[in-house]
Amino acid sequence: THKTPVTVIGLGPMGATMAQTFLKAGHPVTVWNRTASKAEPLVAQGATLAATPADALAANELVVISQIDYQAMYDSIGSATDALKGKVLVNLSSDTPEKLRAANDWAAGHGADLITGGIMTPPPGIGEPGAYTFYSGSEAALEKHRETLKVLTDVTYVGEDHGLAMLYYTAQLFIFWSSLASYMHAVALVGSAGVAPEAFRPYGAATIGDLASDGPMGFVKILTEEIEKGEYPGELNSLLMQAVSADHVVEASKAAGLDTGFPTALRDLFWRAVDRGHGADGLGSLYEAIKNPPK
Ligand code: NDP
Repeated sequence: THKTPVTVIGLGPMGATMAQTFLKAGHPVTVWNRTASKAEPLVAQGATLAATPADALAANELVVISQIDYQAMYDSIGSATDALKGKVLVNLSSDTPEKLRAANDWAAGHGADLITGGIMTPPPGIGEPGAYTFYSGSEAALEKHRETLKVLTDVTYVGEDHGLAMLYYTAQLFIFWSSLASYMHAVALVGSAGVAPEAFRPYGAATIGDLASDGPMGFVKILTEEIEKGEYPGELNSLLMQAVSADHVVEASKAAGLDTGFPTALRDLFWRAVDRGHGADGLGSLYEAIKNPPK
């Protein structure tokens, strides 16, 4: 059966794995990378190395890009814009939503469709079940190449606005980093009194799991409902009470000799919300403080 040929630009850990995954799935693959030597293992597996960025674009309609940021795309193909007409560029690099929107203006100005993506897996997950990518931009262009892109990860379309893929990606990354940084801080905190990481793990894991559950500690769902209503009941556990406890986290961390930057930032956010009049509201009112920072 005919498999759509694809060009992959950028052969870092991600792009190289993407190119290899396409090859394994039987897609003809053309590659280009600033450092050409990184293409060697892929050429050995059947990929074609394009001599220039213009050749890489000319080879195929579908062009998947994975580089350190969007500037790398301009540095790579910015001098080959004549070859962009009619192409579908799928950029899976990370950058800010604004950079993604600007890239769409640039691509459209040269007659190309840009699909932006935020890929939610490290290299080992590419081509494996469960991995997915947030895509935004033209749904028609995405549909045309959905089957090919599904070789890399599941396809999750989030909307026309080209910045959306990166907003979702960034939002997820923030949950990932802050949750795990909290976990590491917690392990260090109990560790300061000699508790082994493995002794604490079941408790930390239960909290993380409970937050996403439908149970009484299922605060992801509870807070989402509160945010949608704009009501943050705090009769049973007020934000003021929790702000005072957040002070205790800072003090305990200091006493334990730990870095206090993260708990201090959290504590300060709590108190800003209290200062805005949310002391008698619940934890969900932090959302209002986050959305309305001091001018
Ligand atoms: P890097 O982010 O280190 O990107 C490496 C690639 O970018 C190489 O192909 C490199 O070329 C190219 N590059 C960098 N600067 C330029 C430039 N000025 N001009 C041309 N090419 C340039 O590697 P990854 O593969 O890890 O990541 C790629 C993207 O995927 C990033 O945006 C990252 O945030 C995202 N991502 C990464 C994940 C991961 O686990 N690694 C997970 C999810 C997303 P050269 O080889 O010549 O240096």
